[in-house]
Amino acid sequence: MSKTAIVIGAGITGLSSAIWLQRRGWQVELVDRVAPGDPAQASYGNAGLLARGSILANSEPGMLWKVPGMLLDADSPLFLRWRYLPRLLPWFMRFIHAGRAANFNATVARLDALVSDTIEQHLALAEGGPAARHIRLGEYSYLYRDRAAYAAEAAGTALKKQYGLKSYTLEGAALAEHMPGLGPRYGFMSVYPDYGWITDPGQYMRDLAEGFVARGGRLRLAEVRTITPGAPAHIALADGTVLSAGRLVLCAGAHSQKLLNRQGPRLWLEAERGYHLFLRKPSFMPKNPMMVEDAKCVITPMAQGLRIAGIAEYARLDAPRGTAPLALLRKRIGQVFPGLQYESADEWMGQRPSTPDGLPYLGEDAKLPGIISAFGSQHIGLTIGPRLGRMVADIAEGARPNRDAIPYRLNRHG
Ligand SMILES: Cc1cc2nc3c(=O)[nH]c(=O)nc-3n(C[C@H](O)[C@H](O)[C@H](O)COP(=O)(O)OP(=O)(O)OC[C@H]3O[C@@H](n4cnc5c(N)ncnc54)[C@H](O)[C@@H]3O)c2cc1C
Repeated sequence: MSKTAIVIGAGITGLSSAIWLQRRGWQVELVDRVAPGDPAQASYGNAGLLARGSILANSEPGMLWKVPGMLLDADSPLFLRWRYLPRLLPWFMRFIHAGRAANFNATVARLDALVSDTIEQHLALAEGGPAARHIRLGEYSYLYRDRAAYAAEAAGTALKKQYGLKSYTLEGAALAEHMPGLGPRYGFMSVYPDYGWITDPGQYMRDLAEGFVARGGRLRLAEVRTITPGAPAHIALADGTVLSAGRLVLCAGAHSQKLLNRQGPRLWLEAERGYHLFLRKPSFMPKNPMMVEDAKCVITPMAQGLRIAGIAEYARLDAPRGTAPLALLRKRIGQVFPGLQYESADEWMGQRPSTPDGLPYLGEDAKLPGIISAFGSQHIGLTIGPRLGRMVADIAEGARPNRDAIPYRLNRHG
């Protein structure tokens, strides 16, 4: 087999796959309908966090009983376009099943294997190119209303400690000194010192792509219409061009399942929409990113301003952007930092590729010859992109890694 590969999708997963294949001596063509760093990518608009402590999947024990209340609460970060409910239900039932205690606990170790060395993975990915300048090391905090709200999450905190994550807590005068400008709604913070984030995710994608092209990689701006597995597998582009290579790598994020068009095993992938506000020229900035626990949004200081990102909205893949999620983010930033002024706020919506069990789809499948899949990394896609990319390259090279990818295999849902 020739060492040629076509990677579909130039978000963080596709870029990482393309770069690691290139480093192993593959001739790689990266195909995307938009340029890397375009706002159409989830990889552009995320909170930028290298979430090495994200080992708790979103579906947790008792989830079924929490969801109705969240959907009826206008201040909850969970949104559903009700007409979409019948389409969502089969995915949602699997999501609930994944949250049962035994399943949830098994997933913790599988997530830890993907996230724990994210900073090292990003440093290795960006090494030797312009992208490394966007990687910032520092602490990450969880902001709570009070000590009781923190205590209510003791089980999750204990699991993180068990997996080696160090933290300390702050309240009262120490918190006020640590976080100037914090409003009275929040009185408790837990701080994780060994974190990292990307200060400009869009430019990070552009710089990674620049490095890839400078080293001889090809970037083609084109829409992929169809994928045909086989030996060789091939793709057809919107202008009718047909391309084939030794390996096709599918990294089209939330659009990946649609592109497979019912070929291969039954997959469960939702476009879980998230939103951000990007505040330009804020009157002050926190030094480090933080998660606002009751709002489940992340506030991140970035190169050009302050980003507030979050919300989980379930709707059709092509449904228009909503206004209520953005209004909620505006309200939340006002509650966290009541005195914050800013010149303007950019609004953004993007789609996380989300699986019910919180794990990505990764690897080859007998029903999809010639294709390596790497998508479904939902809330932690920026974090785990470089790790998935390295595993894709390992799989292409045929060294052991398909075994390592077993927990993430495509046919795991039966
Ligand atoms: C609000 C929000 C906050 C987030 N915060 C974080 C965070 O702090 N940390 C973190 O780790 N993760 C975060 N995430 C998740 C993360 O952004 C995603 O998981 C990740 O970006 C997915 O990357 P990807 O490369 O798989 O997909 P994408 O970045 O969406 O890239 C997929 C690419 O495929 C291309 N494509 C699709 N179909 C076709 C086609 N037919 N032809 C050609 N090209 C095609 C698209 O144009 C796109 O460029 C957040 C997500 C959201 C929405």
